[in-house]
Amino acid sequence: MPDSLRIAIIGSGTAGPAAAIFLARAGHEVSLFERAEKKLSVGAGFLLQPTGLAVMHRLGLSEALLPHIAPINKLYCRTRSGRVLLDLPYSELGHDFYGAGTHRATLLDVLLAAAESAGVMMHWGTEMQRLSRDSTDRPLLHDQSIQRHGPYDLILICDGAHSAMREQSGVPARVSRYPWGALWFIGERTPEFDPSVLWQCVDSTRELNGFLPTGTRDDLLSLFWSIRLDHIPAWRQGSLESWKQQILRLSPQAESFLTQIESHHQVATAVYHDVRMKQWHGNRVVLLGDAAHALSPQLGQGVNLALMDAAALAESLELLPLDEALARYSKVRRRHLRFYQFATRWTTPFFQSDWLPLGWLRDAAFPLINTLPMLRRQMTATMAGGKTGPFSSLPQAQIPGRPPASRL
Ligand SMILES: Cc1cc2nc3c(=O)[nH]c(=O)nc-3n(C[C@H](O)[C@H](O)[C@H](O)COP(=O)(O)OP(=O)(O)OC[C@H]3O[C@@H](n4cnc5c(N)ncnc54)[C@H](O)[C@@H]3O)c2cc1C
Repeated sequence: MPDSLRIAIIGSGTAGPAAAIFLARAGHEVSLFERAEKKLSVGAGFLLQPTGLAVMHRLGLSEALLPHIAPINKLYCRTRSGRVLLDLPYSELGHDFYGAGTHRATLLDVLLAAAESAGVMMHWGTEMQRLSRDSTDRPLLHDQSIQRHGPYDLILICDGAHSAMREQSGVPARVSRYPWGALWFIGERTPEFDPSVLWQCVDSTRELNGFLPTGTRDDLLSLFWSIRLDHIPAWRQGSLESWKQQILRLSPQAESFLTQIESHHQVATAVYHDVRMKQWHGNRVVLLGDAAHALSPQLGQGVNLALMDAAALAESLELLPLDEALARYSKVRRRHLRFYQFATRWTTPFFQSDWLPLGWLRDAAFPLINTLPMLRRQMTATMAGGKTGPFSSLPQAQIPGRPPASRL
């Protein structure tokens, strides 16, 4: 076992606390810095895939999380005219496969409680702004009050898609913003929505509406509505009723759910980034989660990739000395991340763009794909999160915590 390291983690979203638990339990001295003053109960509903659930299982946190999730059996996506584009049941992959609809705050609660018991030192209200080096080249961190922290043996940059620390790491990255984002709202699920189905409806490439059962004890439901970012100011000034009518044209069953939205202020906006990096480590620094590889949520993978990053980094540090462990981390994550980044970039314009012919192509091709069992299975496996190429999957050994009987 390599020596105990002094580790700083920047960002307490998903990747940061998950990595903190693994590393503190392995005997390292871990400090987690978060710019928010305290844990905020904010965030959208998201879908935890079998890959993400497997990491939670490996962390020993399934039992704490599962009472709060909505087990999702399938993704169902149709056009406004009723043509079924995707009907992807997880059971195609095995009887014990499912997704978990949950809420960012619920996942964070479970992760932070475990981080605290593992002895992670939490520093709320600390926004890191700069990274420098001491005379032995070990990294130091500087916060918003110009206070210096460190030196550290290793810094984990987990500060999300808008990362300010990515540039400080010295590891080259290309960052762009998608022209389309989303409006979202979380309310109480109404009986018209099946609690085990992620429902989506599209009309051309310009209208996309989704409803995700989001679990927790209150039986919540998340509404997503695709929108061009430059249309958001006009939406804020516009009539809420006419927006609801747009939603109802796609999802008529939403009528009673929508009565919960009485003001624009109840609806949040989401902006998506695309981050490209050739490797995710540098000299005593390593990037995880959205800071390393943000993508559009079209394939619903962000939280799962962040959890898998944490598991892969912890495993590498368990096996090898620091420099080799960081190189192994980039190597182990490469194929999986490349596939999902490629697949997401390729798929997103079919659902969110101004390229209308892509919508016609989608409406012609997807129903065919959906009827071919082999292709449908590959699409379901892609949704489940364990693919590394169109016809290849992660080896069983790299799906942490998955019971051996299950295949992805
Ligand atoms: C509308 C929407 C729907 C989504 N749906 C899904 C889905 O269905 N499935 C899925 O897997 N993913 C989904 N995602 C993506 C998912 O939310 C992210 O991929 C995931 O949260 C990434 O985790 P992270 O830890 O890398 O970053 P984040 O969760 O963004 O956390 C970063 C943390 O760092 C903190 N921070 C930032 N800068 C600093 C600093 N300088 N110093 C200290 N702290 C700092 C922030 O306050 C934050 O707490 C969705 C995203 C959106 C917007």
